[in-house]
Amino acid sequence: MTANAGPATDATAAAQADAPAEATQVLVLNSGSSSVKYQLLDMADSTRLATGLVERIGEETSRVTHAPLATGGAKREREQPIADHEEALRAVTEELTADGLGLDSPKLAAIGHRVVHGGQRFSGPTVIDREVLAEIERLIPVAPLHNPANITGIRTAMGLRPDLPQVAVFDTAFHTTMPEHAARYALDVETADAHRIRRYGFHGTSHAYVSRETAKLLGRDVTDVNVIVLHLGNGASASAVEGGRCVDTSMGLTPLEGLVMGTRSGDIDPAVTFHLRRVAGMSVDEVDELLNKKSGLIGLCGDNDMREIGRRMGEGDRAAQLAFEIYVHRLRKYVGAYTAVLGRVDAVAFTAGVGENSAAVREASMRGLGALGIELDAVRNSVRGSSARLISADTSRVAVAVVPTDEELEIATQTYALVSA
Ligand code: ADP
Repeated sequence: MTANAGPATDATAAAQADAPAEATQVLVLNSGSSSVKYQLLDMADSTRLATGLVERIGEETSRVTHAPLATGGAKREREQPIADHEEALRAVTEELTADGLGLDSPKLAAIGHRVVHGGQRFSGPTVIDREVLAEIERLIPVAPLHNPANITGIRTAMGLRPDLPQVAVFDTAFHTTMPEHAARYALDVETADAHRIRRYGFHGTSHAYVSRETAKLLGRDVTDVNVIVLHLGNGASASAVEGGRCVDTSMGLTPLEGLVMGTRSGDIDPAVTFHLRRVAGMSVDEVDELLNKKSGLIGLCGDNDMREIGRRMGEGDRAAQLAFEIYVHRLRKYVGAYTAVLGRVDAVAFTAGVGENSAAVREASMRGLGALGIELDAVRNSVRGSSARLISADTSRVAVAVVPTDEELEIATQTYALVSA
C-alpha cells in the first residue's frame, strides 16, 4: 500500500526532520480498551526484535507477557496491577529496556498506532498531530468500542515521546477506494450523510498485506491481479481486491456486518433488531450485546474456537455441525458475490487464525465451486505450514492460497515508509 501523507503533510515534514538517519526501528502499538499489544521491528531488514502484550489493564491481576526475540531469550510473564494505559506503556518500556531496546532509544524512528476507524478522510498512514487526533475523536460515534482506546494509546505514547513521529494506520484506509455504489447503503441520503452512515470496512491492513503477498506468490504485479481475500479470525471479513484496490468488503459501518464470526452474527435482516425491541422487550444495549458478543459461532453452539468446533463435530455434535455449516454457507455466498463483483478472479486467499489453520473450513467453503473455476487440491490443503502457499489443483483456473497475515509488519512498513520518505 502506498504511503499517503493524508492531510498532515506539514507534520510529516517536521517528523521527517526529527528522525535521526540511523533510526530504523518502529514500535507498533495496538491499544484496546483493556490491553496493549506491541511489537518492535527493525525496518532495515524487517526483523522483529520484541513482541508482547499487556492485558487486563485496570484490574488487580494485569499481566505483561514479553518475548525478547532479538536476544532469543525466554518469554517473560509477570502479573501486577496496572491501572491505566500510561502504566501499561511504562511496563512495555521496562521490558524493552531490559533487552537493551526501549522507548527512549535513538534507534526508534517512529511509533505506529493501529487505529480502527479513520472514516472517509484517512486513505493512508498519517502522522498524528492535534488536528488528526481531533478527527479520530470525532469518529468515536461510529467506533465507540475501538477509537477511544486507540486515542488513549496515542495520547500516552505522545506524552512519553513527544519528539517522536507517531503515525496512525487505519483499519478502514484500504477500503476508501470502494466505489460509491459499494460503500453507500440504500438509505435516505440526508439521514445517512448527517450521521456518517456508510460502509467503511475493517481489517484493511490485513487485506492490503494479504492481497499484495498473494500477487507475490503468483509471481505477478499486484496491479494485474484480482483477489478475494478471506480474513477469518475471531472477527472475519471478505474483500474483493481489483489490481490492488479494494472494490468491496463485507464489514460495514461497524465490524458487525458480513460473515459469521466468533461472537458476531454478521449479516442479518435489520428488522430482527426491531423485533427484539418490540416483541422480546430488549433494550438497545441488550440487542447490541446479543449481536456483537453472543451470536455467531458462540451463539449457535456455545464455542467460538474453530478447533473446539472441529473436535465436537468429530464426536457427532449436531449444534457444532450446524454452526460450521452456517459459517461456511455465508463464506461461499460472499465468494460467489465477489466473483460477480470482480468479473475475473485470479486468486482466493485465506488468512488469519481460521483461514490459515482450518483445512476443514477451506475445504468445505471451496467444495463444488468448479463452475467458478475453483478446484482445491486435497493434499495441498491438508499440509500445515507457516508460509504463503498454494492449495489449489494445477487444473484450477483460480488459484487458491493460504497467505499468513502480518498486520504488525504492515503497520511498521507503512509507518516507516511515511517517516523515512
Ligand atoms: P483475532 O486476531 O481476530 O482475535 P485470530 O486471527 O488470531 O483472531 O484467529 C483466532 C481464531 O483462529 C480462534 O478463535 C480459532 O477459532 C482459530 N484457530 C486458531 N488455530 C486454529 C486451528 N489450528 N484450527 C482451527 N482454527 C484455529
